[in-house]
Parts: sequence; C-alpha cells; structure tokens
Amino acid sequence: MLKCNLSQLDNLFAAVAEAMPLYLPTQGKNGANYTKWQAGAVWSNTCNTQKGPKDLFFPQSEDLMAFKTQGKTIEIIDTRNEAEDFAVFGVRACDVKSLEILDRVFLSEPKDSYYASRREHGIIISLACNRPTENCFCGSFGIDASSPNGDVTCWLTEDALYLRGNTEKGEKFMALAAPFVTECDDTAAEAQKEKIQKIMARLPLADLKTDAFGGGKTEEFFNSPQWAKLSESCLGCGTCTFVCPTCQCYDIRDYKTNDGVVRYRCWDSCMYSEFTRMAHGNNRNSQKERFRQRFMHKLVYFPENNDGVFSCVGCGRCLAKCPISMNIVKVMKALEGEQNG
Ligand code: SF4
Ligand code: SF4
Repeated sequence: MLKCNLSQLDNLFAAVAEAMPLYLPTQGKNGANYTKWQAGAVWSNTCNTQKGPKDLFFPQSEDLMAFKTQGKTIEIIDTRNEAEDFAVFGVRACDVKSLEILDRVFLSEPKDSYYASRREHGIIISLACNRPTENCFCGSFGIDASSPNGDVTCWLTEDALYLRGNTEKGEKFMALAAPFVTECDDTAAEAQKEKIQKIMARLPLADLKTDAFGGGKTEEFFNSPQWAKLSESCLGCGTCTFVCPTCQCYDIRDYKTNDGVVRYRCWDSCMYSEFTRMAHGNNRNSQKERFRQRFMHKLVYFPENNDGVFSCVGCGRCLAKCPISMNIVKVMKALEGEQNG
C-alpha cells in the first residue's frame, strides 16, 4: 500500500499526465465529467459524474474509417490512432463494473477492435466511494463501493490518498506515482472501507433486491400489465440510455466529404422510435415495447446470456436524470410487487 499526501496530488497528476493522457472528473457547468488533465485542472471528488468513463472506451461518436475515391479506385483509410496508453483516475466501483459488462459485449467474438484497443491501453485507477448519494444501489448487484476493482484501487481520507496496485498495467501508474508516495500499511484504507460500508448500509436503496429477476424470467414478466402503466409517461428522450454506463447500442452511418466518405458510429437508444428501423420498418412500434425492451434487457435478457450478470450497476444516473422521474428501481419494485401480490 502506498500513501500520497493530498498536498502532493497535483504533482502526481502532472507527472502522470506528462507520460500519458490522464482523464479524471472535473466540475463543469452541468456537473462533473471526465476530462483530460492539464495544469490548473481541479479534480472533482463528486459522486457520481454525469456520464461514466464509457466515453473513453466506446466514444459517443467516433470515425471508424474513411473511403477515398479517385476514378474507379476506392482507398480504405484506417482513421485509428490508439497506440498510446492512457490513465483514468477516480473511477467508482459501479463504473469499473460497467466496463466489465461492456467487455462481455465488445470483447466477445467477433471482437470490437476499436474498443479492445482502448481497453488494452487504458489504465483504470478506481476510487472507493466516500460520498455515495441517495440514488446509489450498486450493492444490489453485488458491487462493493468500498473496494472497487481496477488496475489500481484508491481510498481517500481527509489528508491522503492510499493506493494499491492490482495489475501489471496498474504498476505502470504506480511507477509514475513513486516520487510522490511513501509505503504504508493498510490500516487507514481498511478503516475507510469500514466507514464506507456503514454509509452504504444506511442508503435509502440499500435493501433493494434483485432476486426476482435474472435469466429465464421472460415469460413471467414480458406480458405484465405493469409495462403499460410504467411507460405511459415516457417521453422516449433516451436520456436514461445516454447516461447509463452499461448501455451499448450504436448506429453506424456514412457521410460524404469532398473526395470520399467517412464512416462513423454514434450511440443510439432503444428508447427512440427510429431505433433498429430496417427496410421493413420498426420491430417495436410503441413506446411500451421500447420501454420494456430496455428494462427486460438489463434485468432478464442480459443475465440470461451472461452467466447471470445483470446489465445494471446501480449507479443511480437514470434516477437522477429522467425528466419524468421514471427509472429502473421503480420498474423493479413494480414488477416485483406484482409478482408478490
Ligand atoms: S424513461 Fe425517462 S429518460 Fe428514459 S426515455 Fe423515458 S422519459 Fe426519457
Ligand atoms: S440502468 Fe440506471 S442505475 Fe442501472 S447502470 Fe444504467 S443508469 Fe445506472
């Protein structure tokens, strides 16, 4: 275990940023988000960022390739430039887990080489949550906010940051941090863990259970009358999918340039009426169907195909952001209530 006095933290960030791009949460006009560190940047310890670190691995919009045409010749240009390592500091336990969920999608065959390359080069420095919010319920999905995974795990106290390297990639970060840290035992980190676990146990959603959901529950829930009630006011705005760190749907399109075409992809949302529209039209015509798809996917279909792993990490972002205050917790409670009653 290593200890960095908080007075040294900016020096540590500067040393890392000199060696590789460093991303961390900073406060913006509408809340905190991951930004690239530069001199003068102020790290925000808020819980949680508006969007998770998903953007750094699966960007909201990215060029995939370009085609240049000259007469009858088409040249394919690889527009990627992802050979360098980068570090992401301050990733919470739920968001670390969200990347493991995305891995199941993008790293299964055929692998998404764009995502795979960023995962290979990205060093995750996670941070235990000493300020969870009332919307947090990661514990319902078996996530321990006091001890996140990642290449390095950190704990914050009033005067210091404690760091534990977990992987070979993490050791690269620890080597850069070396001039600013001293060795220590794990007493302070263990005390911090205990403190966080006590806070987590007192959160309003601490008792939310997932037992009613999982693979094999399609018949049980698919035709529930609750879907019509729950989705009645849904605006189909897609906010819940855009802030969700585990949502992974995207669209691929081409646009024309002066001498060719650029192919790009961007996030899409199963809440949109145009989502997955193909030559024959849309396969989910009502908002009820689209709404049901989003939650059935997180609570039933995904675990069915992924060893029981849910594709929600309880980050609470959809609870905070939905303009009509609809969210996965309300869906779980309504479906479970129906099952029990
Ligand atoms: S559930 Fe809320 S955030 Fe999601 S699409 Fe409907 S209105 Fe928008
Ligand atoms: S469904 Fe909501 S709580 Fe679950 S991971 Fe997505 S944004 Fe977070």
